[in-house]
Amino acid sequence: MRVIDGSTRLAGIVGSPLAHSLSPAMHNAAFEHLGLNWVYVPFAANDEAGLRRLFAAAPSLDLVGLNVTMPYKHAAVDLCDEVATAARIAGAVNTVHCDEGRLVGYNTDGRGLLESLELEAGFSVADTHVVILGAGGAAAGVLVALMLAHPTSITVAARDPHKATELIERMAPHAGGVALEAVELGQAEPIVSEASLVLNATPIGMRPGDPSPVPEAWLRSGQVVYDMVYGTQRPTALVTEAEAVGARAFDGLGMLVCQGAIALDTWMGTGERAPREIMRSAAEAALARRRSRD
Ligand code: NAP
Repeated sequence: MRVIDGSTRLAGIVGSPLAHSLSPAMHNAAFEHLGLNWVYVPFAANDEAGLRRLFAAAPSLDLVGLNVTMPYKHAAVDLCDEVATAARIAGAVNTVHCDEGRLVGYNTDGRGLLESLELEAGFSVADTHVVILGAGGAAAGVLVALMLAHPTSITVAARDPHKATELIERMAPHAGGVALEAVELGQAEPIVSEASLVLNATPIGMRPGDPSPVPEAWLRSGQVVYDMVYGTQRPTALVTEAEAVGARAFDGLGMLVCQGAIALDTWMGTGERAPREIMRSAAEAALARRRSRD
C-alpha cells in the first residue's frame, strides 16, 4: 500500500486522451520497487493552453518530470527551457526533467526503440538497411536515434511521398554518412523486401481488424519487423504476417517500456537504472486489464 505524505513528489504524463495510457501503471510500479516517494498521475490537457499552464506551473509544483504524448510532443519543444539536441532535431519532446526549476526536454522514443531492439531481438542497427513506414512524429523521433546508430541506409516510405521527402530533407544535415531516401509506400516493395529492419511508424494496427501496413508478400524470412503499435489488437496483423514468413516480429510494447525506463533513468539522475522487467510486467498487466474492459 503506497503512503502519500508531506514529502511525496509528483510526476506524470500529459496528453489527450489519456484514459488508455499504460504509463501510470508502469511508472508507479517502478517507483514502488525503487522505494521512491513519488507518484505518477495523468495530467489531461484539452488544448495547448492547458499544456502551457501545466509547464508554467511545473517548477512551483516541484514536479519530478513529465512524459508528453499525443498530440503535444511538438508543442512541448518550445515550452522547455532547454532541449536536448536529438529532441530538437526530431522536433518532438516526450520527456521533461524538472531540474532545479528548469524544464529540460528530451526525446526517449528513439533510444527506447534501439534498446528494445537490442533486448528483445538482439538486433543492432549498425551497418543494416532500415525502412520506416510512415513519416509522422514517431518516425521523426526514431529517425534521429537510428541515424546516430549508423545503419547503412534508412528509407522513409509514406503514403504521401511529399511528407517522406520533407522528413528526409529535414534530417539530411544530420545524417552523418547514413544514406537517406524517401519513397511512396505503395512503391516500396523492393525496399521493404531488402530491408534488414522494417519498422511500422503508422497507426495501422491500433484498431481491431486493422490490416497490415504492407502486404505479407513483401516480407521475408530473416528480417526483423518491429511494429511500434501496441494495444487493442495483439498480435497485430503485421506481426502475425511477418512471423508467418519466418521474420522475427515484435510489437511496440517493448519500446514503450524502454522509453519510459530511459525517462525514469533521467529523472533519477543517479546512474541507477529503472527496473525494466518490473515496468514491463506492470504494462502487460495494465494492457490485459484494458483489454478485458474494452
Ligand atoms: P502521426 O504523427 O499521426 O503519424 C502517422 C503516420 O502514419 C503519418 O505518416 C501518416 O500519414 C501515416 N498513416 C496514418 N494512417 C495511414 C494509413 N492508413 N496508411 C498509410 N499511412 C498512414 O502519428 P505518430 O505520433 O507518428 O504515431 C504513429 C504510431 O506510432 C502510433 O500508433 C503510435 O501509438 C505509435 N507510437 C508508439 C510508440 C511506442 O512507444 N511503442 C511511441 C510513439 C508512437 P499522413 O501524414 O498521410 O496522415
